[in-house]
Amino acid sequence: MKCPNCKQKFDESKEFCQHCNLKKTDLKLVTVLKTSNPMTISFAKSILQDSKIKFITKGESIRAVYPLTNLGTVEFLVMKKDESEAKNILKEINETS
Ligand SMILES: [Zn+2]
Repeated sequence: MKCPNCKQKFDESKEFCQHCNLKKTDLKLVTVLKTSNPMTISFAKSILQDSKIKFITKGESIRAVYPLTNLGTVEFLVMKKDESEAKNILKEINETS
């Protein structure tokens, strides 16, 4: 497996990346936002991209078929090490949605 932080080979028997010292537990993905609001989804994407936090989304396949409806909930996941930062930026939109 590759370290997502430094892109070097990550020895999975070790607790830390030997190249950048990233903790293995920090590689876990955590959900920072769940929403079915199309406005919230596009806003969350743009602010996460702006802040350079790597994220993935789950549940967008339904939305790709019905983009303008509220069908399906989209989840935003980030690496554990970015969790607090991501939650912090997303707090604003969580409160308004
Ligand atoms: Zn690394």
